[in-house]
Amino acid sequence: MAISGFMKGLSCFHRAKPRTKIHPLHCFARRSREFSISSSSIADDDPVLPVLIVGAGPVGLVLSILLKKLGVRCSVLERRTEFSSHPQAHFINNRSMEIFRKLDGLAEEIEKSQPAVDLWRKFIYCTSLTGRILGSVDHMQPQDGAGSRIRSLVGIELSGEKDLQKLVSIHFRSRDLGDYLLKERPGMLFFIFNTEAIGVLVAHDVKDGEFVLQMPFYPPQQNLDDFNSENCKKLIFKLAGQELSDVEVIDIKPWVMHAEVAEKFVCCNNRVILVGDAAHRFPPAGGFGMNTGIQDAHNLAWKIAAFVKGISPSSILKTYETERRPTALINTELSVKNFRAAMAVPAAIGLNPTVANSVHQVISAGFGTLFPSALQKVMLDGIFSIGRAQTSEFLLNENNPVGSSRLAKLRRIFEEGKSLQLQFPAEDLGFRYLEGALISDGNGASTTVEPPSGRRREYVPSADPGSRLPHTYIRPLSNSPTNKTLSTHDLIPVDKLEFLLIIGPHNESYQLARAALSAAEEFGVSVKVCIVWPADTNVGTEGKSESPLSPWTNFIDVAEVKKLGTNLVSWWDMCEMSDDGAILVRPDEHIAWRVKSGVDEDTISEMRSIFSAVLSLQ
Ligand SMILES: Cc1cc2nc3c(=O)[nH]c(=O)nc-3n(C[C@H](O)[C@H](O)[C@H](O)COP(=O)(O)OP(=O)(O)OC[C@H]3O[C@@H](n4cnc5c(N)ncnc54)[C@H](O)[C@@H]3O)c2cc1C
Repeated sequence: MAISGFMKGLSCFHRAKPRTKIHPLHCFARRSREFSISSSSIADDDPVLPVLIVGAGPVGLVLSILLKKLGVRCSVLERRTEFSSHPQAHFINNRSMEIFRKLDGLAEEIEKSQPAVDLWRKFIYCTSLTGRILGSVDHMQPQDGAGSRIRSLVGIELSGEKDLQKLVSIHFRSRDLGDYLLKERPGMLFFIFNTEAIGVLVAHDVKDGEFVLQMPFYPPQQNLDDFNSENCKKLIFKLAGQELSDVEVIDIKPWVMHAEVAEKFVCCNNRVILVGDAAHRFPPAGGFGMNTGIQDAHNLAWKIAAFVKGISPSSILKTYETERRPTALINTELSVKNFRAAMAVPAAIGLNPTVANSVHQVISAGFGTLFPSALQKVMLDGIFSIGRAQTSEFLLNENNPVGSSRLAKLRRIFEEGKSLQLQFPAEDLGFRYLEGALISDGNGASTTVEPPSGRRREYVPSADPGSRLPHTYIRPLSNSPTNKTLSTHDLIPVDKLEFLLIIGPHNESYQLARAALSAAEEFGVSVKVCIVWPADTNVGTEGKSESPLSPWTNFIDVAEVKKLGTNLVSWWDMCEMSDDGAILVRPDEHIAWRVKSGVDEDTISEMRSIFSAVLSLQ
């Protein structure tokens, strides 16, 4: 997705169920009021449209919803006249769901449409869907511990690894297969290796029998005709280990796996901005593609609003690149490492995909070119069937010394968690911006971000500038009957350009809050003050902060809600804050600035200088 600007001046994982009935794109589009299929509908009384979004993929649609909520007019241009029903993502991470929670019930709609977690918690490695299971990994166990035209028009290059693998994605339905897997071996991904075929089956909706099969594709020796409906059915039967009477092939699409990030995300005097797959494309290992794009949109929306509303100069849009490009590079590296881990399993049983790719290269570009293309295809098929013979029951069994050592290697890979992983809490929730629309501090915040290891690392909540505000449950202290438990994230509205200042109930902090409210008013932005009282504070403290904050009224007194067994450390302590510390949170829930223990200097000048830096005014 790319944007062309014509400018004047809690946590659990989720799966999208991509049925036409409740396709996530339809969910996004329903909320995108000005969504339009053709450029003809962008006409309006105002001759200048501040934002034009090119591409109604998930990222373009989410950005349009966020912008409209912030009061920024935009239109979405889409070259297709219908939504594709071919599933292209199935894993939505925590951070994206946190964003969706604020989009008029989108998170609830996705939650309702997702299958029960027991149906997709596992990756299963087998010789066929009805045959021998080589191993399985449960990804929900408690743990220890795109080809953008806009981009090419503005001359931005992508750098990274191209053509990691060519694949064909076969979207099909079979209720018989769904019923079988539901009863016998529920899972999300099935890696199938046998002497006749190799493929990865994504079970999108076992109850409805909706699947996507990913098959390696080797053009030009293979062409799309090799994957016509009839051939695809035969491949499905080979991988299922039996014929199925009700297979309906819906769609067949070739695609190429890359690991690339655009050299720039913002160009043409801050008027053209790349977001989502137009800015980065990774192997779909770990489900970071769409999720990263949605988080790009969230980072960008408030900055566009600040510019369009005349609060910030257009240079604030540059901070989108400063913040999101490093995150895209990290997620690319992580996805490549995870993709390589996925390759460890076939390699252990003698099916090294790197070898297959090299053989294909030799046939396509080396001595193979001396032969007619029909013969090249026969050569390729022959070599691949020799490769697949490694998976025969005869070889891959405990009584055969080669097979037994390969099976032992496979067990080690699964036991040591060295196969394809699904959950990356540190990268999902713990991503952090080191510079951009924020003030880095000398309060012990680290100045580097650890490169991804490719293995699961836990999320460590942090209030370091640039981090996502740690979530905790809070309760408003007023007596209002409508009061209910909230998340700290609920204090940041999605439909208003508003910052949040979090303080404790102390005189110095109230003074700082008054200074922040006054400075923000000077800069034309809103700030809400949240005063965090000790967990045991009684309801009815309404008004406690009224007099110290007078004449300002945009504040809320809250207390942390302690959950049984988790009340050892308060949220404030976990954020490493002293009583008179303060945290300033941006409209995208990332921390703009924090002071661990009070501001010594003139608080008004300090807050002016903070807002001025965060809003790119200096
Ligand atoms: C097999 C597979 C599995 C995946 N699984 C996951 C997953 O589980 N989780 C995850 O987060 N990601 C996953 N991804 C990645 C995900 O599909 C992409 O990252 C995501 O679709 C990107 O969204 P986007 O809106 O940026 O781009 P797209 O979805 O590519 O949308 C771009 C839109 O722009 C339109 N368009 C293009 N050019 C023009 C033009 N010139 N004018 C007008 N319109 C135009 C296109 O028609 C399209 O509708 C997966 C990808 C694949 C291939």
